[in-house]
Amino acid sequence: RLTTISPLIAGNWKMNGLTHSLDEMAELARLLTTGAAPRAIVVVCPPATLLSAVAAQGASSGILAGGQDCHPQSSGAHTGDISASMLADAGAQFVIVGHSERRQLHGETDDVVRSKAEAAIGAGLKPIICIGETEAERDAGQAEHVVSGQLAASLPEAASVHEVVVAYEPIWAIGTDRTPSLEDIAAMHASIRTCLTERFGERGESIRIIYGGSVKPHNAREILDVDNVNGALVGGASLLAKDFYTIISAV
Ligand code: PGA
Repeated sequence: RLTTISPLIAGNWKMNGLTHSLDEMAELARLLTTGAAPRAIVVVCPPATLLSAVAAQGASSGILAGGQDCHPQSSGAHTGDISASMLADAGAQFVIVGHSERRQLHGETDDVVRSKAEAAIGAGLKPIICIGETEAERDAGQAEHVVSGQLAASLPEAASVHEVVVAYEPIWAIGTDRTPSLEDIAAMHASIRTCLTERFGERGESIRIIYGGSVKPHNAREILDVDNVNGALVGGASLLAKDFYTIISAV
């Protein structure tokens, strides 16, 4: 077990959150500053419209801000898109890339995801690179094969690869209240760790591998206890400060 990696708990608000959601941020900040000091790095990834507010609000309580996606290029004629440097400018330190919703609904390939991760690193952000199998792929016994393929193709070659976070998110576990067994999570995270060390040597041992997919207050502790699980990417349960705080406290 690699106890030297400090765990990271990231909340992904997805397309949820209006100005009043900042009340939840304020409550989270209150819980984090009045309770025991968190043993995890805490990141909140709100919609881009709230990014600078979240970054400003989080500053006093140690909550970091992250984007949910970025464009591979740094500027230009890309209506509706946001570059990594713009996220950094708004106060982000992290950015999620290759979430399965982006891969599935926006046709993002591993190549696109890798370009985004490289753009993020270039802008001084830490990319949280998501990979994960579908239910059909798992049923066919292909989960590890699919995930290692995505990992190989979505990670940048850059020397700064230690800046990346890998998020294993089985697609069938996202927003479904279903999770893999702890044994299956352990097997997949061990397999990802092996891929990382084979490719990056010692540096691969310090890359965080976080788990995402229906992490909730009631199951966070057992999931975070699994070998090679270095944190969690939390969707639905990150929207309520109380729930997200319980998950953070489970580290
Ligand atoms: P969930 O989402 O926690 O609501 O399952 C996780 C994610 O999509 O990152």
